[in-house]
Amino acid sequence: MRTVTHWIGGKPATGESTRTGPVWNPATGEQQAEVMLASRADVDAAVQAAAAAFQTWSQSSLSNRTKILFNFRELVNARIQDLAEIISDEHGKVVSDARGEVQRGLEVIEFACGIPTLLKGEYSDQVSTGVDLFSFRQPLGVCAGITPFNFPAMVPMWMHPVAIACGNTFVLKPSERDPSASQLVAELWAEAGLPDGVFNVVHGDKEAVDALLDHPDVAAVSFVGSTPIAKYIHERGTANGKRVQALGGAKNHAVVLPDAPIDYASDHLVAAAFGSAGERCMAISATVAVGGAADELVAAVSEKARAVKVGPGREPDSEMGPVVTAAAKERIVGLIGSGAEQGAELAVDGRGLTVPGHENGFFVGPTVIDRVQPAMDVYREEIFGPVLSVVRADDVDAAIALINSNPYGNGTAIFTSSGEAARRFQRGVNVGMIGINVPIPVPMAYYSFGGWKDSLFGDKHIHGPEGVSFYTRAKVVTSRWPHVEHATGASYHFPTAT
Ligand code: NAD
Repeated sequence: MRTVTHWIGGKPATGESTRTGPVWNPATGEQQAEVMLASRADVDAAVQAAAAAFQTWSQSSLSNRTKILFNFRELVNARIQDLAEIISDEHGKVVSDARGEVQRGLEVIEFACGIPTLLKGEYSDQVSTGVDLFSFRQPLGVCAGITPFNFPAMVPMWMHPVAIACGNTFVLKPSERDPSASQLVAELWAEAGLPDGVFNVVHGDKEAVDALLDHPDVAAVSFVGSTPIAKYIHERGTANGKRVQALGGAKNHAVVLPDAPIDYASDHLVAAAFGSAGERCMAISATVAVGGAADELVAAVSEKARAVKVGPGREPDSEMGPVVTAAAKERIVGLIGSGAEQGAELAVDGRGLTVPGHENGFFVGPTVIDRVQPAMDVYREEIFGPVLSVVRADDVDAAIALINSNPYGNGTAIFTSSGEAARRFQRGVNVGMIGINVPIPVPMAYYSFGGWKDSLFGDKHIHGPEGVSFYTRAKVVTSRWPHVEHATGASYHFPTAT
């Protein structure tokens, strides 16, 4: 059985812990590898390697850092297919979707290649007679990233290229469910010329995460995962004096107004609900059908949901793969059942689906649940599976009120041909990322990504300008170079400009 090891100080490392966890192939239901689960001592070794590397990496020139980032960009670009296949085998998503995730991660690397421009400071000449004032930003030290299973390449790439470009060193703790993409990424950083110890990977579970949160040499923690863990990471990390950004779960609503073209809206809803088997933090999991839109919308979405080709991620004509684990499947199937028990209507029921030749795979078919009420479990829970709930609302204001009463605030979308309704929606919803006739409004790398309310704990969104701000701290320098003959005596009153 293959063993996925840590990566510490520029090479694979086995560490002292003998604990391991299984890595499944979701399409077959079989274990394909084991992953090491780090102890506190293993995490300490990675943090020490990163802390030692920080001494020189933080002093390396912008031009040197940029060259390495460009090399890394080229290497990741050349290996998109390899990364996508590794992701598909461990996560289950179809290869074309996995390629899309690597592409979106690549865009963050490209953003980070612009670090000389991004780190330009400000300068004010002659703020007082003979006095200049300027500011610049410096790296924090060792930064940690703790990431979820659903984007094993992209989400870590939201973090490490920006952190490293800013002059920090990095310890990544990826999801233990699909750990192998991080190994290839570590090898590509090394091949790009990144000095040993600047990028490290420790695999593990709560023990490794807690060791990072408590380690005195970790300056900042970026987390992406579910809301209860995000809240915990934020509380424990900040209590230990660290800078923390912790992105949590989601319940993304798409509002469909009666003036929306139903064919267009239903195409996009089905792709956004069932792509990656609904295991995206920006997946649409609730659609709000307004006024007369509901019946026609449910009919169109149901027909398209039944037509989705479900199969192993490696098969070229599969449109949707399995969910990540048997436990995830069991949970999703249970929630679909609760919808029926609590009075909703199963317009399409994906529970019984089997894929010939892959009877033990963790497959759940696309499911559409109509006439969902906000009190039902299928509405309250983040299902994180291929399940689309349909809620009905009287008008756009009722739809906005429904979204605003939900504890999450990651992404949302509206389908309409009315500019007035779209503008009311974009201004009125308490959500971080909004799509207008765009169902999955993930911002480009040069903007920042982040939700509101229970979808993000901390002050800064991830990547883009807020990412650079998160991974650096500002210095402001007030300077005077007096001619000796012009020098005047110091004054005892508070300094004011002259
Ligand atoms: P998760 O919260 O279970 O795990 C995320 C990370 O936390 C993993 O590295 C895991 O090892 C670690 N972890 C798990 N339990 C822990 C514990 N008790 N103590 C300390 N660390 C722990 O999330 P997941 O199931 O891997 O990913 C799916 C979740 O991530 C969904 O809720 C999804 O919405 C969310 N997500 C959010 C975004 C976003 O941008 N907001 C993006 C992707 C995924």
